[in-house]
Amino acid sequence: MAKPHFNVREAGLFSQCLLQGVEMTRIESPQYLPSVDRLLNTPTVQNFACDHGLALVTRCAQSILARARLRVLAGESTDMATLIQSLSEEIEHILLPSLRPVYNLTGTVLHTNLGRAPLPQSAIQSMVDVSRGASNVEFDLETGKRGDRHRHAEALLCQLTGAEGALVVNNNAAAVLLTLNSLAQRKEVPVSRGELIEIGGAFRMPDIMARAGCKLVEVGTTNRTHRADFDAVIGPKTALLMKVHTSNFEIKGFTKSVSDKDLAGIAHRYNLPFITDLGSGTLIDLEPYNLPHETTVTEALASGADLVTFSGDKLLGGPQAGIIAGRRDLIDKLKRNPMTRAMRPDKITLAALQAVLRLYTNPERLTDELPTLRLLTRNPVEIEQLAGRLASVLQDCCKKFEVAVSQTHSQVGSGALPIDKLQSAALKITRPDVRRPGSALNRLAKAFRKLPVPVIGRISDDALWFDLRCLEDEEAFVRNLQDLEMS
Ligand SMILES: *Cc1c(COP(=O)(O)O)cnc(C)c1O
Repeated sequence: MAKPHFNVREAGLFSQCLLQGVEMTRIESPQYLPSVDRLLNTPTVQNFACDHGLALVTRCAQSILARARLRVLAGESTDMATLIQSLSEEIEHILLPSLRPVYNLTGTVLHTNLGRAPLPQSAIQSMVDVSRGASNVEFDLETGKRGDRHRHAEALLCQLTGAEGALVVNNNAAAVLLTLNSLAQRKEVPVSRGELIEIGGAFRMPDIMARAGCKLVEVGTTNRTHRADFDAVIGPKTALLMKVHTSNFEIKGFTKSVSDKDLAGIAHRYNLPFITDLGSGTLIDLEPYNLPHETTVTEALASGADLVTFSGDKLLGGPQAGIIAGRRDLIDKLKRNPMTRAMRPDKITLAALQAVLRLYTNPERLTDELPTLRLLTRNPVEIEQLAGRLASVLQDCCKKFEVAVSQTHSQVGSGALPIDKLQSAALKITRPDVRRPGSALNRLAKAFRKLPVPVIGRISDDALWFDLRCLEDEEAFVRNLQDLEMS
């Protein structure tokens, strides 16, 4: 996306100012600053008002004049052309969308701060189609009566996972909260001490339990939890058993946890539902793609989970959503919880999710069509060749730095497969001539973030790294670099 430009000098507006008789004399005292009206009456500013509306331009003129007044009082000087330039920058600053596309060259494919999964074209098209006008989001075309918005994703989810029912909410945190609140309010939920996790962004299992209105009962120890530990705490107040996928860390060494199958067995012996929060939750076995094994939703259900919760925008590769799949009667109970209304997905999410799920019906083409899987399975040789081609381009932009192709490891991100790393290639930018390159690298990283499409890398080991795994449009990337401004 191109950044709007209002640069007075570049646009020849500077000379235009001269032609139009804008005084170029220095203004060294506040009394010689123009009034808001006078600034608005210069032809250049009248053009701004035509393009962006008088109200916005007036407000911007007021604020830049107030700032100019302070600067002049502090002994600086200015002139009309500079004021007009500041005004154009102020307008640009306000109009530039704050949420915009970036290049994710951090090496973390599913980066929560960078929006997680990139969507496939078919999902983008579905979102466009459904957002342009009216849709049957809650309307049954067969009967002509009110319909259920949840049905749009449910049939495919059931088909792909073997679940009896499924429900979509805004994100997986909501899915967990809703599940616990619906099935365990005012009751106890035993969870292994090794699974009382924080996933970042203030999602802490104990806090979620409290907000869901249930009482957490800690079981076992951080590194070892045994079957008997569960037997010991289950009583008349126990609502369900829960397994939380420890998604962003691993406990190694002298450890013991109760397997999903055993936990399900214990739960069912006491007639309790067994819930698994998978976190990332994949619908397919990742091993054939040379990725490490991650429990699939189908496997979790097969090992006895009555409900499984997972994210739409992690390994699934779809829009932000939380998905709950499992037993029909429990899904129906969740649907009846008034909280569901407060967590319901919008039609745009449902459109995207349905399109993504449809891709899973043809796994042979999934690596081509689903960007998340395509990026995760990208051939390291191809990434290295891309790095080779871009190294000289980047070297030309950053003359004071040294740009080299370096092997690196990407990670999946969002807590999925946390320990495993994917072989990748990066551009490694250093300043070998400087002993402490920290501030030079920070300035360089900032210059890349100021590009029309900001480029986000990572700084470590005295280098700025651009992992190229997630860079697919090479041509657009090179074009974007033309605007790199090095201070
Ligand atoms: C990521 C994650 C969540 C939260 O999912 P969001 O979609 O980010 O709300 C919950 N539980 C686990 C185990 C996770 O990995």
